[in-house]
Amino acid sequence: MNNRDYLVIATAAEDRIRAYAAVTRDIAEEGRKAHDLSPIATAALGRLMTAGTMMGSMLKGDNDLLTMQIRGDGPMKGLTVTADSFGHVKGFVTVPDVMLPPSPAGKLDVGGAIGRGTLSVIRDLGLKEPYVGQVALQTGEIAEDLTYYYAYSEQTPSSIALGVLMEKNNTVRQSGGFMLQLMPGIEEEMIIKLEEKLGSLKSVTKMLEEGMTPEDMLNLSLSSFSLRILEKREISFYCNCSRERIEKVLLSVGREELQKMIEEGEPVEVRCQFCGRAYSFSTEEMKKLYRAAS
Ligand SMILES: [Zn+2]
Repeated sequence: MNNRDYLVIATAAEDRIRAYAAVTRDIAEEGRKAHDLSPIATAALGRLMTAGTMMGSMLKGDNDLLTMQIRGDGPMKGLTVTADSFGHVKGFVTVPDVMLPPSPAGKLDVGGAIGRGTLSVIRDLGLKEPYVGQVALQTGEIAEDLTYYYAYSEQTPSSIALGVLMEKNNTVRQSGGFMLQLMPGIEEEMIIKLEEKLGSLKSVTKMLEEGMTPEDMLNLSLSSFSLRILEKREISFYCNCSRERIEKVLLSVGREELQKMIEEGEPVEVRCQFCGRAYSFSTEEMKKLYRAAS
C-alpha cells in the first residue's frame, strides 16, 4: 500500500505558536485491520494515534518513546498508543469489538465507550525514570482530554482537534488532526484573536472531506499569524515486533510456565498486542526455549 499519511510541523507568531497537523487515514485503517476494530474503536484509536504522531515528533532522541494510555469505566475499557521520533505509531484497544448506539449528535460515541477514567502520558527519554503525567478524563473524546493534559500537566495551553470518519462499509474514510501550542510570551490580544479564529473552524473530518491538506488546515487557522511551515514528515503505522522479541517474552515467563505449554503438546501461538501479528512456536522450538530459560 502506498502510504499517503504525513505530518507537518510549523511555527507562527515568531515562534510563540507551535503547530502540527497530520493526515492519518492509512494509519487509522491499518490499526482497524490489525485488530479487526469496530467503528467506535477505530475512531478512538485513530484519534489517539493521530495525536501520537504529532506528540512523537516532539521527541528528540532515536530511542525516545512516547506511550499514551487511556483507562476508562466504559465498555471499551481503554486503549494504548506508542509513538517514536521517526513517525512510527502503533496501538491497540482493550475491547476491540465494542459497539454503542450513536451519540445524540449522530456521532460515534467515543466518550461513552471510554467512560470516566484517566489519561496517562509516559515519555521514556532513556533516563533512569520515564517522565509520567496523568490526568482525569474530561469527556473521553480524546482531543479534549489531551488539551486538558497539556494545560494541567505541562502548563502548555493548547488547542487540539482530532477526527476520524468511517465509510459505510466500516473502513476509514478520513482521519487527521491538528494541534496548536502557545509558548510563553504570547500576548493576550493574540490569544483572543486565535481563539476567535479557532471557534469559526469546521470539524477536522469536514475539512478533510473538503479535500484540505494538513498545510491547508494550518493555513486556515494561522495565516494571519505569519505561519512558517518548518518540516513535512512521513508517518506510518509500524510495529517493531519480531520473533526474537516474542522469544524474549516467552523466556521471561519462566521454566514452569514453559513446561506447562510444552506438556500440552500443541504449537504455541503468540500474538503481538500492538499489531496483531501471530508468531507460532512448535513443541520442538518450545523445548529449545525451555533449555535456554533460567
Ligand atoms: Zn507487533
